[in-house]
Amino acid sequence: MELALSLILLMLSRTTGALPGHFWHLTDLHLDPNYTASSNPLQVCPSAGSQPVPNAGKWGDYLCDSPWILINSSVYAMKNILPDPDFILWTGDDTPHVADEKLGEDAVLSIVEKLTTLIKEVFPDTKVYPALGNHDFHPKNQLPAANNSIYRKITQLWGPWLNVASIAPFERGAFYSEQLVNKTQGGRVIVLNTNLYYKNNDQTTNMDDPGGQFKWLEEELTSAANKGEKVYIVGHIPPGMFEKKRSTPWFREHFNKRYVDIIQKHHGVIAAQFFGHHHTDTFRMIHNSAGSPISALFIAPGVTPWKTTLPGVQNGANNPGIRVFDYDRNTLQVKDMVTYYLNLTYSNLAAPRWEKEYRLTEAFKVPDGSTKSMQTVLDKIATDKCYLQKYYEYNSVRYDLVDCDMNCRADHVCAIREVDFTKYESCIIQESSSTSLTVQLPLLIFLLTCFFTFL
Ligand SMILES: [Zn+2]
Ligand SMILES: [Zn+2]
Repeated sequence: MELALSLILLMLSRTTGALPGHFWHLTDLHLDPNYTASSNPLQVCPSAGSQPVPNAGKWGDYLCDSPWILINSSVYAMKNILPDPDFILWTGDDTPHVADEKLGEDAVLSIVEKLTTLIKEVFPDTKVYPALGNHDFHPKNQLPAANNSIYRKITQLWGPWLNVASIAPFERGAFYSEQLVNKTQGGRVIVLNTNLYYKNNDQTTNMDDPGGQFKWLEEELTSAANKGEKVYIVGHIPPGMFEKKRSTPWFREHFNKRYVDIIQKHHGVIAAQFFGHHHTDTFRMIHNSAGSPISALFIAPGVTPWKTTLPGVQNGANNPGIRVFDYDRNTLQVKDMVTYYLNLTYSNLAAPRWEKEYRLTEAFKVPDGSTKSMQTVLDKIATDKCYLQKYYEYNSVRYDLVDCDMNCRADHVCAIREVDFTKYESCIIQESSSTSLTVQLPLLIFLLTCFFTFL
């Protein structure tokens, strides 16, 4: 039966050239095990710090990390929406935003185990490609470029998902590469530990190539090219700048540069890149030296609604989001992307409801999620106020619906367009001084324009 199905699919792919498949991208669950919908605003959640949390609801609060019930609901929503994905990308950050002293190694590991168990129970037959986030370690952010007890213990938890050959590399540095099997042929997933490049990671301060991961990545990409494979690159912290706070990078500069150099050199085999960490819904474009787009990097929204405490960020919370990618099993090209979300306010008032937020091709009127199409999405956001506003509302999963003004536009457009730090700063100077007609239009005309554009 399985053979017959495979043959039919193979014949279909020969005639149409495409073999449609789907996978989930899940990220930044950030469980707060002590969340409680207490009527005492100071006793709701440790992840709110000293902020009072009035009127906390059963499903969570924008000032807090996720209660268990929210995480449970998100994974079961995945099962309801798409029960049999080809695989799941799970890009980390499982623990709450609290001081290290409140967690400890055992608490971090027990949260990682709890979430791993949930995903295994709900998707027992699905291959999961997990990546570590900067919060999946104790002390947080301090992921070392060498073998240690946390990597070893997490390898045991994730062992059933990993190929045997991935176990040793994971214990050494929490990165690995696997051929995509079962439904996808000629594809590869490379899971990176980009926490090694994080500016807050003191373990890698004076290193050129922590864990030898850059050298290894180049070898993997060269080998994939020789074998005719296409590659997905997966990680937690993305390169480039945070779009919600001006001039805020995550990587140290030399690591960011090396990363971009590698993508520029090997982009021919890279079908797409997938990251988390921002908790926002955004993307990044990487260009070659001539300025042509060569790779798109998708950043998925988090499940935690937690409002960031990063100074200077306005309205930095989000509704919980989960995401399905449609892709071509032959070429790994991204065909589409559908984001589902839970309106937290509505859920606390009425009932929990996971619903479709948007489909990429419908919302931005592009044919697919290829690099070329994502450049078109960027061009639309940069030149059309209606698309900018639409993107901005998706960016916080419809939490922040205020007008994205000139400064906001420059922050987002430059972060998406320029992953290189120097080029980003030039973009900010240029975009801040430019007077785009559509952005200068009075609000009424803008609203009318949007109304007719999206009819
Ligand atoms: Zn996170
Ligand atoms: Zn993170």
